[in-house]
Amino acid sequence: MPPSPTIALLSQGDELLTGQILDTNAAWLAERLTELGFRVLYTHTAPDEPGAITRAIRAAYEAADALICTGGLGPTADDLTAACAAEAAGLPLTLDRDSLDRIEALYARRRRRMPESNIKQARIPAGARVLPNDWGTAPGFELICGGGIGYFLPGVPRELRAFWGAHVRPALLGRFALRPSRRVVLRCIGIAESTLEERMRPLAAEPGLTISFRTELPENQVKLIFDPSVEPADIERTCARARAAIGPACFGVDSGPLAQVVGEALAARGETLATAESCTGGRISAAITAVPGASRYFVEGACVYANQAKIRTCAVDPEALASSGAVSEIVARQLAEGIRTRAGATYGLSTTGVAGPGGGSPEKPVGTVHIALATPSGTTCRRLSLGGGRERITAMAAGLCLDLLRRHLKKSGAG
Ligand code: AMP
Ligand code: MG
Repeated sequence: MPPSPTIALLSQGDELLTGQILDTNAAWLAERLTELGFRVLYTHTAPDEPGAITRAIRAAYEAADALICTGGLGPTADDLTAACAAEAAGLPLTLDRDSLDRIEALYARRRRRMPESNIKQARIPAGARVLPNDWGTAPGFELICGGGIGYFLPGVPRELRAFWGAHVRPALLGRFALRPSRRVVLRCIGIAESTLEERMRPLAAEPGLTISFRTELPENQVKLIFDPSVEPADIERTCARARAAIGPACFGVDSGPLAQVVGEALAARGETLATAESCTGGRISAAITAVPGASRYFVEGACVYANQAKIRTCAVDPEALASSGAVSEIVARQLAEGIRTRAGATYGLSTTGVAGPGGGSPEKPVGTVHIALATPSGTTCRRLSLGGGRERITAMAAGLCLDLLRRHLKKSGAG
């Protein structure tokens, strides 16, 4: 088997070296490049200083078959990448008329005057291939130098990812004899990472398979990476085995987030949802409405933090609040049923709990959360005992509450 082609990653910007932002571009690219069949030789971060950037670009062209450089294509004085790439390749900068027209048109559409400084973004090394930017202002470019190929891309993560899919990945596949591996992500909720690991153990002996685990609150994910030699039919079979081993905690294979899976199931059934959140403060509403098209099934989300709000909005019985406290099964039940009735929705979801760090008691320690799902055929309540601080407790409570509905929809048909 021929050796994998090599690639070097360069990131640009003082903000990366002072810890103000994390270099997510390098991590994101490294994962995709490895999957594509490249060996990532190194990642290097350069400050906004021309000598350092030029040296880093030269070194990357020498060391690797390809390089990707992100950042430093902005309009401000600290954005120096194009000039440094030109310097490293011994080429002059030229003004690319098409790029300038595009930037001007973008400002015109936004009804704003283009500042002089943006003209700079249209200057690229002579002979470079321009990669048009349909997602922002700075064009990227492809520059061949000394037998190596380099891609210079905007640092804004959203733009970088769009460039990758539209320009860089197709060009790399055309230029290098690559053998991409296949990655499948099983998205799970309500199951511990250690349990997942145990359930995946029987699959560990599958040839050409690497299994890894990752937590992205409130989910746990299992990543299956298949060598290029594994046949598609075997990939299918292994994924089905993995999914069966995990059981109902797996809500999707290469799917969108939980809120999207739930939303699609609701839309398919023509059903609707309303939420009454106390300790999760609107996290469920936020997750649901982050999915485009949520208005098809999401009616209303109430953040009923104070007892008065619980009474006023969800008709919670003041007696129940007085005798059982706000953090109780009966209040969770009444919140879910109350919001369902008020909104005229098919389902009502609710949360009420102690997110901490204060407010716990021996009977209701921090992390005690009651969640409830009201349906046309009755109400389900669960008491959760969560750990890990306020951020984790609220994220997990919101996720597990939404998961109550996901599991209900699955059990009762089209979910
Ligand atoms: P620049 O292209 O250098 O003007 O960067 C534009 C913006 O993209 C910066 O303000 C950062 O917020 C972001 N950015 C730049 N480089 C990176 C990186 N390596 N990882 C994540 N974000 C970045
Ligand atoms: Mg910068």
